[in-house]
Amino acid sequence: MSSPTWVKTFLASSDRKAHESHELLNELVRLNTITIGDLSVTCVACWEVHPLREWTFIQNRYYVYSTGCTGGDYWVDCKVESCHIQCPSCHAKSYLYNRHDRDVLVALLSRKDISREKIFVNPIIITENRS
Ligand SMILES: [Zn+2]
Repeated sequence: MSSPTWVKTFLASSDRKAHESHELLNELVRLNTITIGDLSVTCVACWEVHPLREWTFIQNRYYVYSTGCTGGDYWVDCKVESCHIQCPSCHAKSYLYNRHDRDVLVALLSRKDISREKIFVNPIIITENRS
């Protein structure tokens, strides 16, 4: 089922509305009346609006070096708010932490019950860093 246009417009319109809509959106997702991928996301570079599913999700992963017999030697994924999304039109990368709709996007993309692979149609990019 496609989400109502008023929901998409409402969610994309402003920082205040995006913040206020967090609970409403969670409820709509829970009721399966909207999918996270339907959420309208505005590019801050070209100002085009695309459903979230068309963006590319970019996450950094850092290696924690071994500290002896008991610690380290594993990878840690950055928190969602430190990730980027890439515009499907102009390919500009948008840092989630600086976005006006950060609270909504972080809350949705942090959900453990919905995998990101089901939200995004493009492959998710993981950049590994050993420094
Ligand atoms: Zn763009």
